[in-house]
Amino acid sequence: MVVAALVRGANTAIGETVVRVQVAWGTGSEVDPCALLLDAGGKVRSDADFVFYNEPSGAAGAVELSTDGQCAATIAVDLGRLPSDVDKVVIAGSMDAGTFDTVPGLKVTVTGQHGHELASFPVLDVERVAAVVFGELYRRGGGWKFRAVGQGWDSGIYEVSDPEYVAAVLTGAMRKARRTAVIPAQRDSRSVPAAVRTEVWQRDGGACVECQATEYLEFDHVIPWSRGGATSAGNLQLLCRGCNLKKGARI
Ligand SMILES: [Zn+2]
Repeated sequence: MVVAALVRGANTAIGETVVRVQVAWGTGSEVDPCALLLDAGGKVRSDADFVFYNEPSGAAGAVELSTDGQCAATIAVDLGRLPSDVDKVVIAGSMDAGTFDTVPGLKVTVTGQHGHELASFPVLDVERVAAVVFGELYRRGGGWKFRAVGQGWDSGIYEVSDPEYVAAVLTGAMRKARRTAVIPAQRDSRSVPAAVRTEVWQRDGGACVECQATEYLEFDHVIPWSRGGATSAGNLQLLCRGCNLKKGARI
């Protein structure tokens, strides 16, 4: 079995139906990998085509994001179950704090159904950007290929065929991520029932109850969860990260 070690811009055929794309990075950095499902025109069909930590499943489960500890995450893609109008799965990542040029050990590994490696891509010399496209799975000649990209979206340099789509899609994706409230420390909204999230979101008008900010929102337990506060709509409120940090400093 020959494993393709890819450089930026290189591609390799994926002769498997179920693949796992792992993004790994060195300790001390916090990276949020995500996946974007694009149609032949390079656009997402809807918000549901953006898979990230707060919405870790897409295309009815054909794409699943899971974290592997503090320094890696895997995007599992069942290529055979992807809708026919999904032409490309972009594997990207963003950072809330810091930029990718300071992240050590960035690496993308593509494995097949039985765990064998199909391709690896050490992502070297990334520019000073907060969002990066690591690679993409794309349809070609009735099959699928993986292309190593490794470019920041505001670098202006892409090896991909249509650079504009990356910028447009990632900008939209990050905007959505910032507007989707998270549970601090848990970084996963599944611990709060969707109905409760919706109720709190609508009651608070999708904005911080302290300063009305609409970005970087978090679900805050009024009575802290660690002190027995319930995960109910009555004990949850929307706070922006800044106001939540201030509150944390007061307690
Ligand atoms: Zn606020």
